[in-house]
Amino acid sequence: MRFAADSMLGKLAKWLRLMGHDTVYLGRSDIKKIKAALDEGRIFLTRNTRLYDLATRRLCEKRKIYFVQANHPKEQLREVASRFNIPLTRTFRLCCVCNFALKRVSRQIVKDLVPEYIYFNHKTFYFCAKCGRVYWPGSHAKRISETLADLLPVE
Ligand SMILES: [Zn+2]
Repeated sequence: MRFAADSMLGKLAKWLRLMGHDTVYLGRSDIKKIKAALDEGRIFLTRNTRLYDLATRRLCEKRKIYFVQANHPKEQLREVASRFNIPLTRTFRLCCVCNFALKRVSRQIVKDLVPEYIYFNHKTFYFCAKCGRVYWPGSHAKRISETLADLLPVE
């Protein structure tokens, strides 16, 4: 899915990218920015009641504008994932910092970009051509999987 996040939802935007969902961070939004995002097929996420009311009234797109109730980023992720049926799994589709598509690269290419022990212990890497960040299946794995495990329902 594609999203556009209002100010105060920067962390949620990162999490959504991590799940593979194209999410732009609008920062301080206005009707024009929101309209452009909706035209791109995005769902606008906001914590601002005034802006929510204004946008739903002016743009008449109630289905595409979502008011996030939760205050904490982790709870916001749980709320949005459940509302839009998003599986809570990490993907390597998008750079979680700049929302740019990641490219799978061989380790020779990232040799000088990652610590030596990472280079020797991993075969698959993902590279963001926009900001130069390198990702691999173990990067931030502990923190991410702990947060996700917390959010998943107990079976
Ligand atoms: Zn990037």
